[in-house]
Amino acid sequence: MSEKLLDIKNLHVNYGAVEAIKGIDLHVNRGEVVTILGANGAGKTTTLQTISGLLKSNSGSIVFDNKDITQIPAHEIVSLGMSHAPEGRRVFGTLSVEENLMMGAYSLKKYDALTLDWIYEILPRLYERKQQLAGTLSGGEQQMLAIGRAIMSKPKLLILDEPSLGLAPVLVKVIFKAIKEISKSGVTVLLVEQNAKAALKLANRGYVLELGKITHSGSSEELLTSEVIQEAYLGKK
Ligand code: ATP
Repeated sequence: MSEKLLDIKNLHVNYGAVEAIKGIDLHVNRGEVVTILGANGAGKTTTLQTISGLLKSNSGSIVFDNKDITQIPAHEIVSLGMSHAPEGRRVFGTLSVEENLMMGAYSLKKYDALTLDWIYEILPRLYERKQQLAGTLSGGEQQMLAIGRAIMSKPKLLILDEPSLGLAPVLVKVIFKAIKEISKSGVTVLLVEQNAKAALKLANRGYVLELGKITHSGSSEELLTSEVIQEAYLGKK
């Protein structure tokens, strides 16, 4: 069994004539939290969507859990143990919180009650609101629900796209704490975040994406103390 749960080599992704991802190499070891940092339009969401099969690459390879998934459709990738909580929440608004969580388990034969209990434990707000229609939740609560739903499939790899986007600081803390708990339970996490400092503090390693290319990579400590990264992403001169 390879130590690498996810291994991406020379990935290229185009939107028509626009080259969004220009040959990136990236890997995530089992048990790690890895973050991808980058400015708006750098290609972070494109990278995540290509990994989970929502977008097709033009060339390069993606190996997940020792299997080449480059040509595999998204629903099969979910069954292999990868779960993606996309940017912008996308919960089922006319279903209750609990029904949304159940939907997250569709790739399993039946939902796992212990997983559901655990989600309610790490995100108690969801328990309090379990009968409420998801469309009436606040933005932060919808974000919690999107994460909870992604965990219901008991993934090996959880992919999170901007989980703290637009949230008040107190909810950002709740979300990051939940991600930490998820990681501690043994789930490997790939995280895209605008909140670079918080993401690096949580992560083992990070990559910096600029205009479709990886410009820096290293341990979180290396990136947190790098002057270039501090200036560009951590708001320090
Ligand atoms: P943000 O932080 O703003 O979400 P990002 O790093 O996630 O940005 P992407 O959304 O991956 O960036 O976009 C990368 C590039 O690809 C951008 O230049 C964007 O305009 C372009 N792009 C994204 N989606 C499409 C699309 N459907 N059609 C054409 N170009 C696209």
